[in-house]
Amino acid sequence: MSELLLEVKGLKKYFPITGGLLGRKQGEVKAVDDVSFYVKKGETLGIVGESGCGKSTTGRLLMRLIEASDGRIIFEDKEITKMSKSELRRVRRDIQMVFQDPYASLNPRHSVEQILEEPLIVHGIGSKEERKKRVKEMLEVVGLSSYHAKRYPHQFSGGQRQRIGIARALMTKPKLIIADEPVSALDVSIQAQVLNLMKDIQKEFNLTYIFIAHDLGVVRHISDRVGVMYLGRLIELADCEELYENPKHPYTKALLSAVPIPDPDLKKQTILIEGELPSPANPPSGCAFHTRCTECMDICKTTRPEEHNLNGHYVACHLYNK
Ligand code: SF4
Repeated sequence: MSELLLEVKGLKKYFPITGGLLGRKQGEVKAVDDVSFYVKKGETLGIVGESGCGKSTTGRLLMRLIEASDGRIIFEDKEITKMSKSELRRVRRDIQMVFQDPYASLNPRHSVEQILEEPLIVHGIGSKEERKKRVKEMLEVVGLSSYHAKRYPHQFSGGQRQRIGIARALMTKPKLIIADEPVSALDVSIQAQVLNLMKDIQKEFNLTYIFIAHDLGVVRHISDRVGVMYLGRLIELADCEELYENPKHPYTKALLSAVPIPDPDLKKQTILIEGELPSPANPPSGCAFHTRCTECMDICKTTRPEEHNLNGHYVACHLYNK
């Protein structure tokens, strides 16, 4: 196996539900519930699932933008979950995020130059001249020009703004970029351009990506391996082609059956997922998917399926070997 960059073990995030006059804890939302995976250097791990499945919370936990309830996050043999504030600041140079809505994540009152310089100032990197030089370099890397540096976010299109978001993430020369729905807010034609840009810069700077999205077509385009989340749990994870050609979990099969295929001669049957996504504050017993699964058996209602490793294809389902 190539070298590991990141390892996540038993990660949990439970948000308390409080209520009443005294604001007492009345329950908890299990946003991320015992998630484990690893990311190898230079690869792209896609994480997919419906909104509310915990994929974005997982991304934020990895950077410790929010604190985990339990579990371990190990980046280059160092445990992020146990780092002091100063150690964490250092590691945040190496891990950067790209967000879904570039407009909301770029300060509208700052010029592009100020936006791109900011991470360098926060981390005390470079002189003023060096910072300005890097701003110009990164603008060119993402397909913009140095004259864009003096402009403001509202003067750009959505696709250009996401290029600025990517340039900002690159400023500190990170090793890992966590991209949370980076193209979902963009028109389909622009999505492909931004994805291709991300692929190009991955090669150029030897980057590792965690690519979070709800769109399986988009994830397939960029990922080496893909994990599928449902109600806070990772229910399947495999090499990209393997997952798309040979899905094992009924939820993954249903999601994939709904993805349109470009060949009009090929017909496939859509598997409908019945019912609403249950509340993570009150997840179903046993297998969390059992209330919607067309293959549900008695054991599924009472016993949570273990994760099985079938030659690198991980699946958490009682029907794993069928
Ligand atoms: Fe369906 Fe049972 Fe598998 Fe859950 S464990 S996905 S309910 S077959």
